[in-house]
Amino acid sequence: MHTAEIGLIRSHFADVVSTPDRRDRFARTFYTSFFARLPQCRSLFPAGMDGQRVRFVAALEYIVRGLDDTDRLLAFLAQLGRDHRKYGVQGNHYAAAANALLDAIRDVDSDVPWNRAADSAWRKFIALITTTMSDAADSDDFPALWEATVVSHERVLRDLAVIRLECDSPVPYAPGQYVSVQIPQRPQMWRYLSPAIPTNPFGQLEFHVRRVSGGWVSPAMVNQTSIGDRWRISSPLGGLHVDTDTGRDVLMIAGGTGLAPLRAQVMDMAHRGINPRVHLFVSGVYPCDLYDIETLWHLSLSNPWLTVVPVSEEDENPWWHPYPVPEPPHGMHQRLRGPIGAVVSQFGSWADRQVQICGSPSMVKTTAYALQRAGTPVESISYDPLR
Ligand SMILES: Cc1cc2nc3c(=O)[nH]c(=O)nc-3n(C[C@H](O)[C@H](O)[C@H](O)COP(=O)(O)OP(=O)(O)OC[C@H]3O[C@@H](n4cnc5c(N)ncnc54)[C@H](O)[C@@H]3O)c2cc1C
Repeated sequence: MHTAEIGLIRSHFADVVSTPDRRDRFARTFYTSFFARLPQCRSLFPAGMDGQRVRFVAALEYIVRGLDDTDRLLAFLAQLGRDHRKYGVQGNHYAAAANALLDAIRDVDSDVPWNRAADSAWRKFIALITTTMSDAADSDDFPALWEATVVSHERVLRDLAVIRLECDSPVPYAPGQYVSVQIPQRPQMWRYLSPAIPTNPFGQLEFHVRRVSGGWVSPAMVNQTSIGDRWRISSPLGGLHVDTDTGRDVLMIAGGTGLAPLRAQVMDMAHRGINPRVHLFVSGVYPCDLYDIETLWHLSLSNPWLTVVPVSEEDENPWWHPYPVPEPPHGMHQRLRGPIGAVVSQFGSWADRQVQICGSPSMVKTTAYALQRAGTPVESISYDPLR
């Protein structure tokens, strides 16, 4: 797409995402129009559509932001197309979605006039999305989804579980990617989770799941999962990775379960002899939120290129946590205190690093902002679509 068209789409879309009400209205118009065109598709979606609408706008926001980087964008759209096969999406669904998207964007109250240029730019943009997605879905040889059995469920914090599964056949994800997951307790409600270990021939998977209060799915994953449950896993998505060609060292910043895709990459790198230097900052609100520090410490002991720095906003655990704050393992970096963005940026600009940030949307946004203010170029910073 031309620069002028990209600019037009971005200004228009900035109005869509400017307030929560506008985001919601845009998504509602999209789904109303889509279901009016294909009523039979309503049953493919959950009864409560709130989360679906939030995720829809977040994905579109990610696509609009990535419009300058064509290769990355096309790769993401192709992944999305392969992933959408889990819903049973067919060719005619894409045409209906394209028209519904056009209806939704035309409905936006914007200062950008809806003229011939806007109409043409949006049609081009929407065609790019739908054709890339449907072409990738049609040409993929892998199954639309994999079945897996829960083999272990460990409650490492009151609101956080480490869940391990064995897939009937290995899911071909790259370390750093995420997958969508459906559990038997919540049919039709797919949620993204990031494997915390690299893929292996035995089909073993490990997820770290934080219970979001009031959420539909994560409380069921943390509270109700049993050994033997059968989960469904869909095609891998995302492109977080360490670029070994650039010769640049790496800065990784994890908040909470955002550690998972970073740890998978570090574990994968541990199989290789030569690696760039990696600084991994692991953060949480309380010291107890650094639930995986023991594993990271062991990894850093046997991999001299890896430095792990624990960070917490508070110095003490909350009163309801059953254990006192433990001493850091001998030889490990002392735990630092403060908001993660402020802590990391106080070390300097990190301008020569490739940077990955992973955590909650607010943690990713504030940390990326703090780094940019300290001098990290925005193009060096990577993160997943916001969680
Ligand atoms: C790329 C990606 C990777 C992810 N990887 C992981 C992972 O490895 N482990 C993991 O635990 N989660 C991960 N998530 C988040 C996960 O997919 C779900 O969004 C989360 O578990 C909430 O689902 P839910 O059904 O419980 O909440 P929903 O029913 O979807 O949402 C309920 C309410 O909670 C709010 N909400 C949703 N998510 C959050 C949040 N994270 N923090 C605060 N409020 C929230 C919603 O806005 C809504 O108001 C990832 C998300 C993305 C996009």
